[in-house]
Amino acid sequence: MLIDKKIDYSLHTHTIGFDGRNSVADMVATANVRGIKTFGISNHFIVHPYIKKSKMYEYAVRGGYSGIYSDNIETSIEKFARHYDEVRALRSQYPDMNILCGMEMDWFKYGGWRDVVNYAVRRLCPDYVIGAMHFIDRGENGILNVHDIKTAPAPESRRLLREYYQNLMQLAEFDWRNMGFQFNWIAHFDLPQKVGVSDTNMETAALHALKMNSVPVELNTALINNKHYTLKPEILAELSGATAILSDDAHDIARIEANYDSVLDTMRGAGVKNICLSADNLSKFVNIRSH
Ligand SMILES: [Zn+2]
Ligand SMILES: [Zn+2]
Repeated sequence: MLIDKKIDYSLHTHTIGFDGRNSVADMVATANVRGIKTFGISNHFIVHPYIKKSKMYEYAVRGGYSGIYSDNIETSIEKFARHYDEVRALRSQYPDMNILCGMEMDWFKYGGWRDVVNYAVRRLCPDYVIGAMHFIDRGENGILNVHDIKTAPAPESRRLLREYYQNLMQLAEFDWRNMGFQFNWIAHFDLPQKVGVSDTNMETAALHALKMNSVPVELNTALINNKHYTLKPEILAELSGATAILSDDAHDIARIEANYDSVLDTMRGAGVKNICLSADNLSKFVNIRSH
């Protein structure tokens, strides 16, 4: 069956060895069948010196996805280097595709974070880096995630959510001048909705900060499919005028390009015009290198 395609890129994806459920080879093969021209793998790069002290780390061990978390930069770099070799090796097999090595990198408050990530990017030369805010940094006590925000008692939960969004705004306003790279875009500004916590005002403010700082916004189509998720009119209004790219955030082959069409319809209905619709136009939205 021929798919009536509207969008032919997918850059936010995950694979086995991190927290994805399919291999790099299977993800690329599926993308190829679907007619995707530019396909990138962007596994989580999450390095924090005290990450193993976090409550969420125990859950990750039990759930079998602790491989995305690291307290050691060298171990992470070695792992990514092997992974990128695997991705790049597929390029000769699919000459018509543009296969890219990305990463979804978490921002942390700890001193030294800048050095750690600059060093990693210099060593690994990813084609692009997606900025992400999944956590709240608690220094020597590790980190908290959105589930911790949800399960905290009411007043504390509110406070944590506010802190989460303050961090996101700080990331939107980040001064990149002394960094060796820049995030190509910021993932899921509305991540807390994944677990059913949200604050429309804070979400709108974060979105506004991204817009004002010319950071492309990600329309995460996996999140939009989540049962907790709602796209409030305030958010849609704020989105109009934003520069946006679509991400399926696929953790398995079945999710590649999932919900692209319905999200696109919603965005068009809301008057969002500046959305990247094709691989050929990607360079107008995000500055992707090719190594
Ligand atoms: Zn993931
Ligand atoms: Zn993410």
